[in-house]
Amino acid sequence: MPPTNNPGKNTEAKAETMILLVLKPALLWYRVPMSALLETQWGTNLCTNLDKNHPVLFLESFTPAVFGYYVLWLLDAPLFPYVDLSRPFKGFDATMFTLIYNIPTHVHHPEITMLTMSDESLDNDPSTTGESRRLVFAYFLGQNIGDVHFQDAIMNTIIKYFRANHPPPVSFVTNVYQNSAIGRVSGLQKFLIDYYIWACVPPEEGRLPYICDFANVDPSQVPPLSAYPAAFRQQVTATLRDNVTQDIVDPGALLRPQVPVVAWALINRTEPRGAVVDFAGLQAFLCNARQGTLKCRYHHHSRNQPCHNMLVDDTPVVGPVNPGTRNLALFVSPSQ
Ligand SMILES: [Zn+2]
Repeated sequence: MPPTNNPGKNTEAKAETMILLVLKPALLWYRVPMSALLETQWGTNLCTNLDKNHPVLFLESFTPAVFGYYVLWLLDAPLFPYVDLSRPFKGFDATMFTLIYNIPTHVHHPEITMLTMSDESLDNDPSTTGESRRLVFAYFLGQNIGDVHFQDAIMNTIIKYFRANHPPPVSFVTNVYQNSAIGRVSGLQKFLIDYYIWACVPPEEGRLPYICDFANVDPSQVPPLSAYPAAFRQQVTATLRDNVTQDIVDPGALLRPQVPVVAWALINRTEPRGAVVDFAGLQAFLCNARQGTLKCRYHHHSRNQPCHNMLVDDTPVVGPVNPGTRNLALFVSPSQ
């Protein structure tokens, strides 16, 4: 189904067909709106032979602690901090008509940092891995099922909460590059490229990499570019080349007879073609720099697709009726 003109998801109370998604072998279930699933080809294929009177789909090969992020996305709920909405499956009739999700709004806020995103120590059991590490896994889940808007939402979440504290570990960059689709630079890859340039490339000869001052990192902890995968090295180099200040010539100046036709007179400003992203205040920078044109820097959607961008203020104008929870009862089918 093509995206609608409404960039938000279904936020209005209306009749909504709900589907039970049951993850096997864990037999954990979630209830999600069918319309949200139909926004991707993957979800459309899933629903092709769905029995409308018995809307339950069993899914295999998804890790609940990672798939849970996708459920939050389908329910138009914040991805972070993570809230586990899974329930043990006890049969269709026992589960389908019993649930109203209440999403707590006052929960602890774990950090999204370069160290938490790259911490591989608990990867063997994703249910114990940190939330920001699982967010990276969810990014690749989005890639695998072809939901670019979900990937964009994850990048928005990272941007919103990111705190720079360390150079990007070589193993993390390698891992991201190995798991990324070939043929284009993903939002997460571009994030790492920009971050390496900001954190690890000395601003001029003889100066320390910025991350050493910013986060008190020992210079010996900053890997040289040569330690990273070849594709990353090439993309960092190309981005650095783009960031060199260049002269911008006003094409209209040649047409104005009063302007002396000498080279320096035609230059009306100088600026880099690319952008050196400021990770000290990442969200503010992307939203405001270059007249806001950088806000989709890590997004995958095309020009004519809606942008679920970070400028959407998702805090309520007035407090929730039931303080402490965000009531998603609007997704309950009116038949109940
Ligand atoms: Zn965008």
